[in-house]
Amino acid sequence: MDAKTLRDVDVEGRRVFVRADLNVPLEDGRITDDTRIRASLPTIVNLLERDATVILASHLGRPKGKVNDALRMKPVADRLSQLLGRPVRMTGDALGPGVQVAVDKLRPGDLLLLENLRFHAAEEANDSEFAASLAALADLYVNDAFGAAHRAHASTEGITHHLPAVAGLLMEREVDALSKLLTRPPRPFHAVIGGAKVSGKLEVIEALLSRCQAVLLGGGMANTFLAARGIELGKSLVEEDQLDNATRIMAEARRKRTRLMLPTDAVVAPQIHHRARTQVVRVAAVPKDQMIVDIGPDTRKAYSEHLARAKTIFWNGPMGVFEVPQFAEGTNAIARTLARRSAATITVVGGGDSVAAVEGLGLADKMTHVSTGGGASLEFLEGKTLPGVTALLPADAEITFGEENT
Ligand code: ADP
Ligand code: MG
Repeated sequence: MDAKTLRDVDVEGRRVFVRADLNVPLEDGRITDDTRIRASLPTIVNLLERDATVILASHLGRPKGKVNDALRMKPVADRLSQLLGRPVRMTGDALGPGVQVAVDKLRPGDLLLLENLRFHAAEEANDSEFAASLAALADLYVNDAFGAAHRAHASTEGITHHLPAVAGLLMEREVDALSKLLTRPPRPFHAVIGGAKVSGKLEVIEALLSRCQAVLLGGGMANTFLAARGIELGKSLVEEDQLDNATRIMAEARRKRTRLMLPTDAVVAPQIHHRARTQVVRVAAVPKDQMIVDIGPDTRKAYSEHLARAKTIFWNGPMGVFEVPQFAEGTNAIARTLARRSAATITVVGGGDSVAAVEGLGLADKMTHVSTGGGASLEFLEGKTLPGVTALLPADAEITFGEENT
């Protein structure tokens, strides 16, 4: 990437503010997937081994600017401490006199985790005073939070006006992997897009129509495309207000000569339930009292065969309601197809739920890259500049400590 990274800086004895994305899913206070914590380890370990003092910070969930005991970073500190094999100390707040006292006690090689940044409304508001106070804790800023890089918040953007700002190792890996999809990806380049809704993914589908040779649609959002073709889908999820957009995208695909593939058959059920009776039908024959919950076996086969010829594949969004095991076949088939690809094929998976599906099958290490950033990876592929990335120092910049960097 064209940004300075932590490898370019002599960090020994320096206080380093590391913005990581430790926003893990929680259930009853327990972490259900620690991928993001593990993905943040290389940067943390690198800095600690080089005798930097690490002040680590992240958001967790959506506390909307208020303290929320269910969203404290404690479970993250505990998991991090297990993974690092050393105690991880925490502050009771992301800011305030207590934080300064804790920071003043730190020695080179020490690590301190700040409390949830989003307990302060100033974080998401990118408040300049809040950003300056965070910056005052450190000499250097490292952004490793690719998953939050599409947001200009105090800890991702504001802080870079006060400290030399460089990329962490995960940030670098994410940007480099996704950049390969933007600059001359080996062809054919095929994208598989699923998930519940078209509304959140219109822009990425449009961007991919210009970059890919084929876009394969699945999940609830394929329903809206089928409905736009006049097909009755019973009780299936259809976004009525997106029918025109779906029609427009199908016309655009024809104009660009990009193949837009839709499911031809589907698994249907009367309701979303793990013991619901399922049936396989053609998409044009969904019974009135049933809903599409997954792509059908013909579609699985057609998609897998089509993908087998690709040299580059990007996948976002499950093919069905994969949280229910009997509706997960389509999603699992896509994951396995990507995992089986030839060594020369680039496979990139992005998006919270699709990544969870891949992780659940134990296939993550079979992919070229599994992105930790859902929304950020989509915006990156849309060709948008991410504020958290743009704010980093360019690779050829000089680093000066101890003065304002604006
Ligand atoms: P990602 O997190 O990978 O970007 P999304 O969040 O866009 O994916 O979509 C995931 C959700 O889509 C899942 O909760 C899944 O149950 C839902 N979904 C997939 N197919 C259907 C369908 N046919 N009907 C309703 N919901 C669906
Ligand atoms: Mg999701």
